[in-house]
Amino acid sequence: MWRDKITTVAFDADDTLWVNELYFQEAEEKFCELMEHYLPQHSVSQELFATEMRNLHLYGYGVKGFILCMIETASRISNERASLGLVNKIISIGHDLLQKPIEILPGVMETLEKLSGKYRLIVGTKGDLLDQERKLKKSGLVSYFHHIEIMSNKETVDYQKLLKHLDCKAENFLMLGNSIKSDILPVLELGGFGGHIPYHVTWTHEQQEYNLHHSNFVELQQINEILNYL
Ligand SMILES: [Mg+2]
Repeated sequence: MWRDKITTVAFDADDTLWVNELYFQEAEEKFCELMEHYLPQHSVSQELFATEMRNLHLYGYGVKGFILCMIETASRISNERASLGLVNKIISIGHDLLQKPIEILPGVMETLEKLSGKYRLIVGTKGDLLDQERKLKKSGLVSYFHHIEIMSNKETVDYQKLLKHLDCKAENFLMLGNSIKSDILPVLELGGFGGHIPYHVTWTHEQQEYNLHHSNFVELQQINEILNYL
Protein backbone atom coordinates (compact mmCIF):
# COMPACT_ATOMS: atom_id res chain seq x y z
CA MET A 1 0.00 0.00 0.00
CA TRP A 2 1.34 3.40 -1.00
CA ARG A 3 -0.01 5.10 2.11
CA ASP A 4 2.04 2.83 4.39
CA LYS A 5 5.30 3.84 2.76
CA ILE A 6 4.99 7.45 1.64
CA THR A 7 5.84 10.20 4.12
CA THR A 8 6.79 13.02 1.76
CA VAL A 9 4.81 14.26 -1.22
CA ALA A 10 6.56 16.55 -3.69
CA PHE A 11 4.76 18.63 -6.27
CA ASP A 12 6.09 19.99 -9.51
CA ALA A 13 4.82 23.57 -9.89
CA ASP A 14 4.42 24.63 -13.55
CA ASP A 15 1.45 22.89 -15.18
CA THR A 16 0.97 20.77 -12.06
CA LEU A 17 -0.07 23.38 -9.48
CA TRP A 18 -0.77 26.18 -11.95
CA VAL A 19 -0.95 27.08 -15.66
CA ASN A 20 2.42 27.83 -17.27
CA GLU A 21 3.15 26.28 -20.66
CA LEU A 22 0.06 27.84 -22.20
CA TYR A 23 1.45 31.29 -21.39
CA PHE A 24 4.84 30.37 -22.91
CA GLN A 25 3.12 29.16 -26.08
CA GLU A 26 1.10 32.38 -26.33
CA ALA A 27 4.33 34.35 -25.96
CA GLU A 28 5.98 32.24 -28.63
CA GLU A 29 3.06 32.84 -31.02
CA LYS A 30 3.45 36.61 -30.53
CA PHE A 31 7.17 36.28 -31.27
CA CYS A 32 6.52 34.24 -34.41
CA GLU A 33 4.04 36.86 -35.65
CA LEU A 34 6.60 39.55 -34.99
CA MET A 35 9.18 37.70 -37.10
CA GLU A 36 6.99 36.50 -39.98
CA HIS A 37 8.37 39.24 -42.19
CA TYR A 38 11.59 37.18 -42.25
CA LEU A 39 10.37 33.57 -42.04
CA PRO A 40 7.07 31.65 -41.92
CA GLN A 41 5.81 31.39 -38.34
CA HIS A 42 6.35 27.65 -38.13
CA SER A 43 10.02 28.02 -39.12
CA VAL A 44 10.51 30.85 -36.61
CA SER A 45 9.22 28.49 -33.94
CA GLN A 46 11.70 25.79 -34.99
CA GLU A 47 14.57 28.29 -35.00
CA LEU A 48 13.61 29.47 -31.52
CA PHE A 49 13.52 25.92 -30.19
CA ALA A 50 16.96 25.22 -31.67
CA THR A 51 18.31 28.36 -29.95
CA GLU A 52 16.75 27.32 -26.64
CA MET A 53 18.29 23.85 -26.81
CA ARG A 54 21.71 25.26 -27.66
CA ASN A 55 21.60 27.62 -24.66
CA LEU A 56 19.85 25.45 -22.09
CA HIS A 57 23.11 24.48 -20.39
CA LEU A 58 24.02 28.18 -20.08
CA TYR A 59 20.71 29.77 -19.13
CA GLY A 60 18.78 26.96 -17.48
CA TYR A 61 14.98 27.02 -17.49
CA GLY A 62 12.81 30.10 -17.21
CA VAL A 63 11.59 33.35 -18.70
CA LYS A 64 14.88 35.27 -18.70
CA GLY A 65 16.64 32.65 -20.79
CA PHE A 66 13.59 32.53 -23.06
CA ILE A 67 13.83 36.31 -23.69
CA LEU A 68 17.52 36.07 -24.57
CA CYS A 69 16.78 33.18 -26.92
CA MET A 70 14.06 35.15 -28.71
CA ILE A 71 16.47 38.07 -29.21
CA GLU A 72 19.24 35.78 -30.46
CA THR A 73 16.83 34.06 -32.86
CA ALA A 74 15.56 37.43 -34.15
CA SER A 75 19.10 38.57 -34.80
CA ARG A 76 19.99 35.36 -36.63
CA ILE A 77 16.95 35.05 -38.87
CA SER A 78 16.99 38.75 -39.77
CA ASN A 79 20.72 38.59 -40.60
CA GLU A 80 21.26 41.13 -37.83
CA ARG A 81 18.84 43.57 -39.45
CA ALA A 82 16.24 43.41 -36.67
CA SER A 83 15.88 46.88 -35.12
CA LEU A 84 16.14 47.81 -31.48
CA GLY A 85 12.44 48.62 -31.72
CA LEU A 86 11.82 44.97 -32.49
CA VAL A 87 14.10 43.93 -29.63
CA ASN A 88 12.00 46.14 -27.35
CA LYS A 89 8.85 44.35 -28.49
CA ILE A 90 10.50 41.02 -27.69
CA ILE A 91 11.46 42.25 -24.24
CA SER A 92 7.85 43.29 -23.59
CA ILE A 93 6.63 39.83 -24.57
CA GLY A 94 8.93 38.56 -21.81
CA HIS A 95 7.79 41.18 -19.30
CA ASP A 96 4.17 40.21 -19.93
CA LEU A 97 5.09 36.59 -19.27
CA LEU A 98 6.60 37.58 -15.91
CA GLN A 99 3.37 39.26 -14.86
CA LYS A 100 0.81 36.62 -15.80
CA PRO A 101 -1.87 35.83 -13.24
CA ILE A 102 -1.54 32.56 -11.34
CA GLU A 103 -4.29 30.17 -12.31
CA ILE A 104 -4.42 27.22 -9.94
CA LEU A 105 -5.30 23.96 -11.70
CA PRO A 106 -8.43 21.94 -10.82
CA GLY A 107 -8.13 19.65 -7.80
CA VAL A 108 -4.98 21.28 -6.42
CA MET A 109 -6.61 23.05 -3.44
CA GLU A 110 -8.49 19.92 -2.39
CA THR A 111 -5.34 17.80 -2.65
CA LEU A 112 -3.21 20.17 -0.57
CA GLU A 113 -5.97 20.66 1.97
CA LYS A 114 -6.44 16.91 2.51
CA LEU A 115 -2.76 15.95 2.56
CA SER A 116 -1.67 18.85 4.73
CA GLY A 117 -0.76 17.76 8.25
CA LYS A 118 -0.61 14.08 7.21
CA TYR A 119 2.39 14.27 4.89
CA ARG A 120 5.39 16.48 4.50
CA LEU A 121 4.58 18.54 1.40
CA ILE A 122 7.33 19.87 -0.86
CA VAL A 123 7.57 21.86 -4.09
CA GLY A 124 10.27 20.80 -6.56
CA THR A 125 10.40 23.01 -9.62
CA LYS A 126 12.70 24.26 -12.35
CA GLY A 127 12.72 27.87 -13.56
CA ASP A 128 14.10 31.28 -12.61
CA LEU A 129 14.44 31.63 -8.84
CA LEU A 130 12.79 35.05 -8.62
CA ASP A 131 9.96 34.18 -11.01
CA GLN A 132 9.14 30.91 -9.25
CA GLU A 133 9.18 32.70 -5.88
CA ARG A 134 6.84 35.35 -7.29
CA LYS A 135 4.44 32.70 -8.59
CA LEU A 136 4.46 30.80 -5.29
CA LYS A 137 3.77 33.95 -3.33
CA LYS A 138 0.97 35.01 -5.67
CA SER A 139 -0.53 31.50 -5.64
CA GLY A 140 -1.33 31.73 -1.94
CA LEU A 141 -0.14 28.12 -1.55
CA VAL A 142 3.16 28.74 0.27
CA SER A 143 1.83 27.89 3.73
CA TYR A 144 1.03 24.30 2.69
CA PHE A 145 4.67 23.48 2.02
CA HIS A 146 7.46 22.47 4.37
CA HIS A 147 10.13 23.09 1.79
CA ILE A 148 10.42 24.69 -1.64
CA GLU A 149 13.25 23.59 -3.89
CA ILE A 150 13.96 25.55 -7.07
CA MET A 151 16.05 23.05 -9.00
CA SER A 152 18.37 23.91 -11.86
CA ASN A 153 17.61 20.53 -13.35
CA LYS A 154 15.46 17.48 -12.63
CA GLU A 155 17.67 14.52 -13.26
CA THR A 156 18.34 11.57 -10.96
CA VAL A 157 21.31 13.27 -9.34
CA ASP A 158 19.21 16.39 -8.58
CA TYR A 159 16.54 14.29 -6.86
CA GLN A 160 19.27 12.48 -4.91
CA LYS A 161 20.43 15.84 -3.60
CA LEU A 162 16.88 16.87 -2.73
CA LEU A 163 16.23 13.60 -0.86
CA LYS A 164 19.46 14.01 1.07
CA HIS A 165 18.51 17.54 1.99
CA LEU A 166 15.09 16.36 3.17
CA ASP A 167 16.66 13.40 4.98
CA CYS A 168 14.09 11.25 3.17
CA LYS A 169 14.53 7.80 1.67
CA ALA A 170 13.43 7.38 -1.95
CA GLU A 171 10.96 4.64 -0.94
CA ASN A 172 9.13 7.17 1.26
CA PHE A 173 8.97 9.82 -1.47
CA LEU A 174 6.20 10.53 -3.97
CA MET A 175 6.58 13.04 -6.79
CA LEU A 176 3.56 14.44 -8.64
CA GLY A 177 4.01 16.24 -11.93
CA ASN A 178 3.08 16.74 -15.56
CA SER A 179 6.41 15.69 -17.09
CA ILE A 180 7.23 11.98 -17.35
CA LYS A 181 10.81 12.87 -18.21
CA SER A 182 11.48 15.36 -15.39
CA ASP A 183 9.03 14.48 -12.64
CA ILE A 184 8.54 10.72 -12.87
CA LEU A 185 11.36 8.68 -14.45
CA PRO A 186 14.24 9.93 -12.25
CA VAL A 187 12.20 9.35 -9.08
CA LEU A 188 11.18 5.82 -10.11
CA GLU A 189 14.80 5.09 -10.93
CA LEU A 190 15.77 5.96 -7.36
CA GLY A 191 13.05 3.69 -5.95
CA GLY A 192 10.48 6.38 -5.21
CA PHE A 193 6.85 6.78 -6.27
CA GLY A 194 5.49 8.84 -9.16
CA GLY A 195 2.09 10.23 -10.11
CA HIS A 196 1.75 11.68 -13.61
CA ILE A 197 -0.93 14.27 -14.33
CA PRO A 198 -0.71 15.17 -18.01
CA TYR A 199 -1.33 18.79 -18.97
CA HIS A 200 -2.89 19.41 -22.37
CA VAL A 201 0.16 21.29 -23.66
CA THR A 202 3.74 20.14 -23.12
CA TRP A 203 6.92 21.94 -24.13
CA THR A 204 8.67 20.03 -26.96
CA HIS A 205 11.73 19.56 -24.74
CA GLU A 206 9.66 17.73 -22.10
CA GLN A 207 7.75 15.54 -24.54
CA GLN A 208 8.49 11.89 -24.28
CA GLU A 209 6.77 8.84 -25.70
CA TYR A 210 6.08 6.41 -22.91
CA ASN A 211 4.26 3.28 -22.04
CA LEU A 212 5.03 3.03 -18.40
CA HIS A 213 3.98 0.16 -16.17
CA HIS A 214 5.52 0.17 -12.74
CA SER A 215 4.12 -0.76 -9.33
CA ASN A 216 5.25 2.65 -7.98
CA PHE A 217 3.67 4.61 -10.80
CA VAL A 218 0.17 5.89 -11.42
CA GLU A 219 -1.34 7.90 -14.26
CA LEU A 220 -3.99 10.39 -13.12
CA GLN A 221 -6.49 12.55 -14.99
CA GLN A 222 -6.61 15.15 -12.24
CA ILE A 223 -4.29 15.67 -9.28
CA ASN A 224 -6.91 15.00 -6.57
CA GLU A 225 -7.17 11.36 -7.76
CA ILE A 226 -3.94 10.78 -5.80
CA LEU A 227 -6.10 10.97 -2.67
CA ASN A 228 -7.28 7.43 -3.49
CA TYR A 229 -3.71 6.21 -2.95
CA LEU A 230 -2.81 8.20 0.16
MG1 LIG B 1 5.72 21.02 -14.90
